[in-house]
Amino acid sequence: MSNSDHSAHLSNSSDCPACPESPVLERISANTKEIGDGFTVRRAVPSVKRRMVGPWCFLDHAGPATFGVGEGLNVGPHPHIGLQTFTWMISGEVMHYDNLGYQQLVRPGQVNLMTAGSGITHAEVSPADWSGEIHAAQLWIALPDSERNRAPNFQHYPDLPIVEQHGFIITVLAGEFCGRTAPAEVFSPLVGVDFFAETTAKSKLKLNPDFEHALLCLEGEANIEGESLAPGTLLYLGKHRDEISISCDSKTRLLLVGGEPFEEEILVWWNFVARTKDEIVKATDDWNSQRHFKAVPDVSLARLTAPKLGDFNPKPSN
Ligand code: MN
Repeated sequence: MSNSDHSAHLSNSSDCPACPESPVLERISANTKEIGDGFTVRRAVPSVKRRMVGPWCFLDHAGPATFGVGEGLNVGPHPHIGLQTFTWMISGEVMHYDNLGYQQLVRPGQVNLMTAGSGITHAEVSPADWSGEIHAAQLWIALPDSERNRAPNFQHYPDLPIVEQHGFIITVLAGEFCGRTAPAEVFSPLVGVDFFAETTAKSKLKLNPDFEHALLCLEGEANIEGESLAPGTLLYLGKHRDEISISCDSKTRLLLVGGEPFEEEILVWWNFVARTKDEIVKATDDWNSQRHFKAVPDVSLARLTAPKLGDFNPKPSN
C-alpha cells in the first residue's frame, strides 16, 4: 500500500519527544487517511507524538471494509526508497506486482515484505474476481544507513510461527517472541506480533527491555495494564519494560510493534525514507521524470504522481 497523502508533510524522526527512559502508557490517536477509492485507513505512525517505534516508521490499520467485485484496493505503480514495506493480511486478498517481476497474492495469515533499498516500483491490486472484506496492517521499516542502498527485493511468507497462550493465538510476524522467530528478513533488532482471542483471554507476556514497544488494537477491546484500548488509538509503552499484562472479554485482535530505538534521524516524505531533503528532491524528480525507477510489468493502472515539491512542508500538521 502507499502513502497517497498529497499534503505530503515531511516527517522528521527527531521532531518528537525522545524515547523516555522508563516505561510509559502513552495514548496516541491515529489519523484517518484515504488511500484511494474511498478506502480509509487509520494512520497510527508517524504522529507528532511518535515518529517511530524502533525502526517501524509507518503504521496504517486498513479496514475492515467490505468491497464488491471490481472494488477494493487499486494502488497504481509508485516508488519507494530506504525502507521495507511489511503487509500483514488479516482478511481479504491483495496482489502485489513490482518492477523486479514478482507477482504475489497475499492472503490472511501471510506477510508480504518488500525491501525497497535503493529504489523499487510496485502496485497493489485486489484480484479482478474477488469480493469481500479487507483488513490489514501496512507497516514500513526504516532501513539503517548501512543497508538503505541495498538492492531491492521481495519476499512472501505464507507460514508464520504461532503460539497459543492463555486464550491468545500469538502470531510472530517479525523478530522473536515467545521463543519463536519469524522468517522475515529484517536489518535492525525489532519485533512484530499479532495477538488474537476469540473470547476471554488474559496473559502476561515477556518483552525485550532493550526495545521500545507500542500496541495497536485492530479489533474488539483490550485491557493493557489497566488501560482500555480500542481501534483508533496506539498505546506507546516506552522502553525498559520486561513484561506486559494483556486481557480481553470478547473477540479481540492486537498488534505489537517494537525495536531498539532507531538512533539515525530519518525523513519520511510521500513514499520515501531518506536522510536529507536533497535525496527526497532527487527521488521525486527521478520518479516524475521516469528515471531510475523501472516500470511494473502487467499492471495497467496509472502511475501515481508524486506531490509537488513546492508543497514540501517541513512543519507536520498531524
Ligand atoms: Mn507502496
